[in-house]
Amino acid sequence: MSEQPILEVRNLKKYFPVSAGIVHAVDDVSFTIQKGKTLGVVGESGCGKSTLGRTVLHLQESTAGQILFEGKDITHVSRAELTALRRKMQIIFQDPFSSLNPRMSLYQAIAEPLRIMTDAKEKEIEDRVFDIMKIVGLAERYVNAYPHELDGGRRQRIGIARALIMNPSFVVCDEPVSALDVSIQAQILNLMRDIQDERQLTYIFVTHDLSVVKYISDDIMVMYLGQMVEKATTDELFEYRLHPYTKALLSAVPLPDIDHEKKHIELKGEITSPINPKPGCRFAARCPYATERCFKENPVAEEVRPQHFVACHRVRELNGLA
Ligand code: SF4
Repeated sequence: MSEQPILEVRNLKKYFPVSAGIVHAVDDVSFTIQKGKTLGVVGESGCGKSTLGRTVLHLQESTAGQILFEGKDITHVSRAELTALRRKMQIIFQDPFSSLNPRMSLYQAIAEPLRIMTDAKEKEIEDRVFDIMKIVGLAERYVNAYPHELDGGRRQRIGIARALIMNPSFVVCDEPVSALDVSIQAQILNLMRDIQDERQLTYIFVTHDLSVVKYISDDIMVMYLGQMVEKATTDELFEYRLHPYTKALLSAVPLPDIDHEKKHIELKGEITSPINPKPGCRFAARCPYATERCFKENPVAEEVRPQHFVACHRVRELNGLA
């Protein structure tokens, strides 16, 4: 029997009212993550991937669905329960510069979560700040530096230190390397992997960058306009991309270690509005394989290969699957 997942999300929905109607930012998304693993969530801007991560963390309340963390239903929690959860569930933001208070030194920024969420005394705070600085590779000489005095890589190391100082078991990483130069991206990704191995951390890693997601993730979930269209292990997904949208997405990036014949698939047609979406597949307006049924019925994800889920009416026929 497989272990109980650390996180289980069932039929999660997050809707936002706007003047023109209701934005279906996350619409009926389900998945599980095992402890110590990374689920990469990919898709174009506006697909709901960041909203998904933030809703799981209760940075915004869900509209419907269920979130179970360490076997406990945390969909609706009291303020006290939320404070306790915050110690275990953290976030690393995309842009370390805007997520850091410019008036706080590195020391103050890293110590802040401890001051807010614990009653640790100054000596313990100091020890823990210096410990975590060492772990994330921040030299002691920067301890009194302010964000504007540091480069992007060091600022993101502060973001990671702030997330880890509470010793969480689960971290949402929301595009944590997209604002960094490529050479620094690799350093930060390696650091995150090393820390994960040491602490058995579980990540949801939100990104639009497929090279990054391939490097960091055990499993990948592809989202399109608020819905999951494909999910599989990383190796399986890169070997057998089955949904027409995933094929187009993967065809657009240079991945030198993939032997598939690369042909860029250009997506034509208008992106469906996430405001009051019509019934049918949300990708239908851009899908070269759309039929009448696709415009009427929303496809439900089905397991088409072991642990490989795809939401497409024509997935078997298009990929020669039984
Ligand atoms: Fe394309 Fe239809 Fe599949 Fe949607 S359900 S991806 S429109 S073939």
